[in-house]
Amino acid sequence: MKYISTRGQMEPVGFQDAVMTGLAPDGGLLLPEVLPDVSDQLEKWAALSYTDLAFEVIRLFATDIPETDLKKLIDDSYSTFDHPEVAPSVEVGGFYILELFHGPTLAFKDVALQFLGNLFEYILEKRGGKLNILGATSGDTGSAAIHGVRGKPNINIFIMHPAGRTSPLQEKQMTSVLDSNVFNLAVDGTFDDCQNIMKTTFADVPFKTEHSLGSVNSVNWARVLVQTVYYFYSAFQVMKKTGANTVQFSVPTGNFGDILAGYLAQQMGLPVSKLILATNENDILTRFFTTGIYSKAQAVPTISPSMDIQVASNFERYLYFKVGKDAAKLVGLMNDFQEKGALQIELNENGSVDDLFAAGRGDTAATLETIKRYKDQFGYVLDPHTAVGVFVAEEFGRALSTKAPRTDCQSVPTICLATAHPAKFTQAIIDATGEAVNHPTLDALADAETRCDSIANDVELVKQYVVEHI
Ligand SMILES: *Cc1c(COP(=O)(O)O)cnc(C)c1O
Repeated sequence: MKYISTRGQMEPVGFQDAVMTGLAPDGGLLLPEVLPDVSDQLEKWAALSYTDLAFEVIRLFATDIPETDLKKLIDDSYSTFDHPEVAPSVEVGGFYILELFHGPTLAFKDVALQFLGNLFEYILEKRGGKLNILGATSGDTGSAAIHGVRGKPNINIFIMHPAGRTSPLQEKQMTSVLDSNVFNLAVDGTFDDCQNIMKTTFADVPFKTEHSLGSVNSVNWARVLVQTVYYFYSAFQVMKKTGANTVQFSVPTGNFGDILAGYLAQQMGLPVSKLILATNENDILTRFFTTGIYSKAQAVPTISPSMDIQVASNFERYLYFKVGKDAAKLVGLMNDFQEKGALQIELNENGSVDDLFAAGRGDTAATLETIKRYKDQFGYVLDPHTAVGVFVAEEFGRALSTKAPRTDCQSVPTICLATAHPAKFTQAIIDATGEAVNHPTLDALADAETRCDSIANDVELVKQYVVEHI
């Protein structure tokens, strides 16, 4: 399997190169040259365990990794999860909640980053060389990335967070990792300052090359790929349980990485009747799917912080499919967006961008109300991100029932992706329900030893720190 760039200016590369490259040199994102059609595998796949299914899916794309090695990479990656099914689906109030938070940092990013860390180390071992990951985080991604590469001999990781501006719990999840290849940097500045330091450092190409700098951001193809697995897995479990022959998914969305995986699974032949895209007040994607106009607005902080984005880094991959894989057309649209802060595509004959997608937004009040109601009625506590998805799925169901009392969609089981454990977002849960939720992993952090260095908001000092510690 070869990989090409959405912008059409890159020679095709193999899977390992695609993973190590991250972003294509022409500024585009990597995609497989063709998506395999797996329709005739589905019946066989439905009987597999999570890791066996992951192997079947990933091997179609990772054709330059020997199968025994791939199998071991997958088994190692999911042995750190605390649930035998890795990603179980639990029936709650008429929905199926797909729990993606059984990994080491209790968020769905572990599903991808546990695998990516092992994959990086595997490739470095084979090819020789080192990787020094530099990242900036406001919380979630940094800790999942750190836990993905801790203790790996050929990788160092430097994660910057804004000093005193990350929730104490999230800070502890990062700084309590004491492996000698992990460096936490508390920058005297904001999250934007951290991101600027990162961008400036990566823009210094000689420095980047000399010190083998890399990143683990959400555009890495391996992250998207491994996320397709739980769409297949949960659809199989729910179809078996209900006898349905199709499902729909509701996905709390920020950078469009998670829901893109669902889109790809559908394109490969998984019977998905709807992808319900849910955003918080930062609703660029909801506006796009309801109007065809993708336009930037000011980002606002919410109680579902991992969805507080305005430009969705993985959206370009969807757009590429949307314009019929026409790289020139895609470049034109991306240029529009670059120049005017907006791009527009035509609506279809039903007045929609894409009949596969529905989209909606859940604001802070709706999020808190949903968390409370699910706890009161069903004894199940949703985290704020998951609550946005559940709320939007309910709205979608209500809209259908007013349009036509009996539609196909209503009898289709809905799977709501649960992207974090509620114990990670104590304040929001207390605000919604009056009491916190605990988790033993987080409780254990209370008196854990930590290691973190403070640093000024200064690119040169950060560069110097990296050089001194690799
Ligand atoms: C990252 C994240 C999301 C958003 O996922 P995208 O792939 O960026 O759309 C949602 N919920 C949680 C808890 C996350 O960490």
